[in-house]
Amino acid sequence: MGQIAENLAHIHAVMAEAAQKSGRKMEDVTLIVVSKTIDVPRIKEAVEAGETVLGENRVQEIMDKYEEMGPEVHWHLIGHLQTNKVKYIIDKVDMIHSVESFRLAEEISKRAQQKGVTMDILLEINMAEEESKFGLKAEETEEMVRQIAVLPNLRIRGLMTVAPFVENPEENRIYFRKMKELLVDINQKKIDNVNMDVLSMGMTNDYAIAIEEGATMVRVGTGVFGARVYPNKN
Ligand SMILES: *Cc1c(COP(=O)(O)O)cnc(C)c1O
Repeated sequence: MGQIAENLAHIHAVMAEAAQKSGRKMEDVTLIVVSKTIDVPRIKEAVEAGETVLGENRVQEIMDKYEEMGPEVHWHLIGHLQTNKVKYIIDKVDMIHSVESFRLAEEISKRAQQKGVTMDILLEINMAEEESKFGLKAEETEEMVRQIAVLPNLRIRGLMTVAPFVENPEENRIYFRKMKELLVDINQKKIDNVNMDVLSMGMTNDYAIAIEEGATMVRVGTGVFGARVYPNKN
């Protein structure tokens, strides 16, 4: 078994155990293999090992890899999305995890109508209220859900967060728990067209804890491919 397949086997074992701890099965949690900065041959190793869902945080990287990876894989946009780039990915991704403004949701709705598709979206929440991060505050979420829910060709599937970078992942448990509470809370308001079932949270460092607290999607890059090498920016 190659290193990538070995890493994936380990991740699935951890996911199964964490899912069990939260009273669920491994199939209840989707692994999103985060392939940013990773070249196509290495991504294909993950696909050959059985993975089908890939996450990228830049539109350009999805465009670059889309043809070569072929129709078997599903792409999720997990990073910040500029309104003027929605048109490039509207017919390429299955889900956009990073919606945090009405303006962006409106653009997604408009482009989805033009293509005759319905786009699944998540609202990004900055649960720890970090200055450096994108996302809505927890208390802004319900109002944003109400506004976006009326837009055509969009489905609000749930919430996403990028937790703080911490040494001890236990420190993030509280944010994952609050995410779950927020989702349950908003579902209980019985807003028309809104029944959220997705919680996208947990990365290499903390996905086990996120699953224990109710994550239905985890986004893991480093754990699959090893440390990323970013090209020099000059
Ligand atoms: C890069 C990235 C990940 C994966 O991070 P790892 O720590 O490498 O697992 C997950 N989510 C988002 C939004 C990312 O940009």
